[in-house]
Amino acid sequence: MNDSHHSYRGRSAKVLATLGPSSRTPEQIADLYEAGADVFRLNFSHGSHEDHAASIAAIRALEKTEGRPIPILMDLQGPKLRVGKFKDGKVLLRPGQTFRLDLDPTPGDENRVSLLHPEIFAALTNGASLLVDDGHLRLRVTRFGKDFAETEVVIAGVISDRKGVNVPDVTLPIPAMTEKDKEDLKFGLSQGVDWVALSFVQRPEDVAAVRAAVNGRAGVVSKLEKPSALEQLDAIVELSDAVMVARGDLGVEMPLEQVPVLQKRIIRSCRSRGKPVIVATQMLDSMIKSPVPTRAEASDVATAVYDGADAVMLSAETASGLFPVRAVATMHRIITQVESDDHYRTYLQANRGETEHSSPAAITVAAKQIAHTLGAAAIVTFTSSGSTTLRAAQERPDVPILCITPSLPAGRRLGLVWGVHSVVGDFIHSVDDIGDVAVKTAVECGLGKDGQALVITAGMPFGKVGSTNMVRVVWIGSETGAV
Ligand code: PEP
Repeated sequence: MNDSHHSYRGRSAKVLATLGPSSRTPEQIADLYEAGADVFRLNFSHGSHEDHAASIAAIRALEKTEGRPIPILMDLQGPKLRVGKFKDGKVLLRPGQTFRLDLDPTPGDENRVSLLHPEIFAALTNGASLLVDDGHLRLRVTRFGKDFAETEVVIAGVISDRKGVNVPDVTLPIPAMTEKDKEDLKFGLSQGVDWVALSFVQRPEDVAAVRAAVNGRAGVVSKLEKPSALEQLDAIVELSDAVMVARGDLGVEMPLEQVPVLQKRIIRSCRSRGKPVIVATQMLDSMIKSPVPTRAEASDVATAVYDGADAVMLSAETASGLFPVRAVATMHRIITQVESDDHYRTYLQANRGETEHSSPAAITVAAKQIAHTLGAAAIVTFTSSGSTTLRAAQERPDVPILCITPSLPAGRRLGLVWGVHSVVGDFIHSVDDIGDVAVKTAVECGLGKDGQALVITAGMPFGKVGSTNMVRVVWIGSETGAV
């Protein structure tokens, strides 16, 4: 890393941009970063390992040029269920007709098609719904055995080769990761990704399984898109390092009108536990084809920011759309506008959780108050594991959080988190040095000028996880000293 520490972007909520055919050359990645992309997402439902390796190499090269840690999130496809193929590629299903799904791999017709997932048949109940092609078709189970399900077509339409199937009403006895996911994960970790997102989390055990496989080499993001996961929301949030509101599949598995309500519930649960939360899917969907979003989309991004989400995500808008850089720039502008609204902080505080009785909580709440009282330029957190910084972000202070860490992996991971501007620096051995290092780094990042205060939090001794126990004020341009 060079020493330039690229300036603070002037906003707290972060932008995740998914890379794909529209955006994965080194030049395109640099343009997205310049426009405001804070985290890059690689979607392992698409693209080869070679594609992803090239994107990762380009991001790491950009990171060197910019002198800033840039987080990379790999998104595992998860156990996505699909029907098999049809003799003629597709058939039209009529309302009320009977349609059979079975384990026979021969091509399907208007009466049947293969669904090569015996575990689905084992878990079905009469009356359960099978949703095909993002819910465009709905089938109701009328009879089933261990190798078939007979259904009545409730919502009719065309069904074609390899369309996805959702089974919202049942918790499926399937493992959290498929063989493909395991291979992808091995690849991603060997390439040094910072976050691993798991699709179709159903239960806390799924998160535990991925945590065990990742083994601390990356943060684990649970994608919430299944009704069964929402039944155990708090336990899943507790076990995860971050959470994604995956509204695409969530809106298939649950009635659409519940998506906004669940989005707010998930954000509240995450914020009260200090877990970063990402709002994803269709945020600026019309920008896949149009250079401007709809007013409703602008409002959707704004809502997530008012609710205090850590990050908002672009999928097809940047991966395969016509205006990837404009989409990122649009999100940057919407976030900046919301965060300058006089009422923004009122909304933000309304979603705040209870303060727990612990030293890190007390220190962090105090730091926020001191920063507010002094009109400080920033809260500066010294951290090795990231816990002091995460705790500061949980408070949603009204000044930026400058994170100084000797750990490049921690610095990268924290790039996803609300309000955090992370900088990788040397390990600090003595508490006497923190004032000078904080002032020097803040000035380099454009985060403070002469006469302004910095409020420092850290855990002593350095390097001990979760031990935030110190707060100190220093003034830029004058002698440093403790309060
Ligand atoms: C979603 O379903 O909203 C989502 C983010 O997952 P994916 O893009 O992998 O389908």
